[in-house]
Amino acid sequence: MERSQSNELHLEAVDHLVGGVNSPVRAFKSVHGNPIYFEKASGAIVTDVDGNELVDFVQSWGPLIHGHAHPNILETVYEKMQNGTSFGAPHRGEIKLAKFVKKRFSHMDKVRFVSSGTEAVMSAVRLARGYTQRDILIKFEGCYHGHVDSLMVSSGSGLATFGIASSPGIPEQTVATTLIAPLNDVEAVEYLFNEHGNEIAAIVIEPLPANNGLLVQSQSFLLRLRELCDQHGALLIFDEVISGFRFKDGSYGDLCGITPDITALGKVIGGGLPVGAYGARDEIMQHLSPLGPVYQAGTLSGNPLAMAAGAKTLELLTDEAYDRLEELGSLLETEVGKVLHRHGHPMRLVRMGSLFWFSPGEQAPPSRADRIPKDAGVIYADIHHGLLERGYMLAPSAYEIGFIATAHEEHHINGMVAALDDVLTTMGDYE
Ligand SMILES: *Cc1c(COP(=O)(O)O)cnc(C)c1O
Repeated sequence: MERSQSNELHLEAVDHLVGGVNSPVRAFKSVHGNPIYFEKASGAIVTDVDGNELVDFVQSWGPLIHGHAHPNILETVYEKMQNGTSFGAPHRGEIKLAKFVKKRFSHMDKVRFVSSGTEAVMSAVRLARGYTQRDILIKFEGCYHGHVDSLMVSSGSGLATFGIASSPGIPEQTVATTLIAPLNDVEAVEYLFNEHGNEIAAIVIEPLPANNGLLVQSQSFLLRLRELCDQHGALLIFDEVISGFRFKDGSYGDLCGITPDITALGKVIGGGLPVGAYGARDEIMQHLSPLGPVYQAGTLSGNPLAMAAGAKTLELLTDEAYDRLEELGSLLETEVGKVLHRHGHPMRLVRMGSLFWFSPGEQAPPSRADRIPKDAGVIYADIHHGLLERGYMLAPSAYEIGFIATAHEEHHINGMVAALDDVLTTMGDYE
């Protein structure tokens, strides 16, 4: 594929933007080539600046559950825009979206809208700390919660150590209040509660960890987190920024039969415009300003265009839409499985609804970050490049998941599977 325009723009961009991008995952650092510059997108298809059409399985990293530029969502935003783009004052759209959210997240009595997933988690953490009047957080190795200082912590290797910041610029004291545990490891969390039980404000977890592979947790592990929080007066925060609204029966928490205290949302909730949200029962939400002392605010929070795009997106998520996503997901899983098997390739497809991940290695898909084979990126880079050359776009990192939208069709899936078959043939069969 010809990419001269993209490459030229990238050369220009690096003079003005850091690494040419505004979010690091967009750089092609761990795969071959340069970032691709988009011209426009519609449904499942992205057109780049060189005029190449690509079937998109990234979908803006999660928000676009109905695909790019869905006509009904565009129409709604356009209509709302005629009345003004920002009010900084209450309006009907906020109530409408809040009602949609509460229908799916029944533990929420009140919702607070913000403008990103990062903001949602950051604010949920502040609320939990304010409510419990405790400081310590437990987070899990491999979970991403946005670039929140206190949650930008890696584990090091040891079990149950205080965290080490995963970025310079985060004060030691900030991460000193974050404890790390491996995912799906009950004993590690029990140990932390034994040591620090009455200082722990909250456990923060992606109940379906999907930012470092797709690391499906056992229900018993998640249930145990709920019990430990209850026993020790800590709050359970589910970060469903990526998993929220992806499942027919409601939240991922519902799917597991577990009710968190606070849920953080983002991505799908804004339908492609910047929205995040968090919510909880009244007793907790009453601590938030203007009712309570925990402060959190936002100039563009509850933005009328963003609220309208979100509400339309959720309105379009009918049972039929979810059935369709499941159908497409199931097709992908079956067909990719066959191709990988035929080539004897040491990779598996992990899928939960419309989310999927190429899990490297022959063993059962991992449920914790340290079990992902270290050479994951090397194999993936060639597959990513091969698929891209054949018109199929996956995330430019072995650790990022893929997204299916209602705009995908069978031929997009089958086409990608055939391309994968071809790529693996070209790469030579695995011994
Ligand atoms: C994407 C994501 C975030 C951060 O959301 P932004 O809108 O990028 O700030 C937080 N948590 C999870 C689980 C995410 O997937």
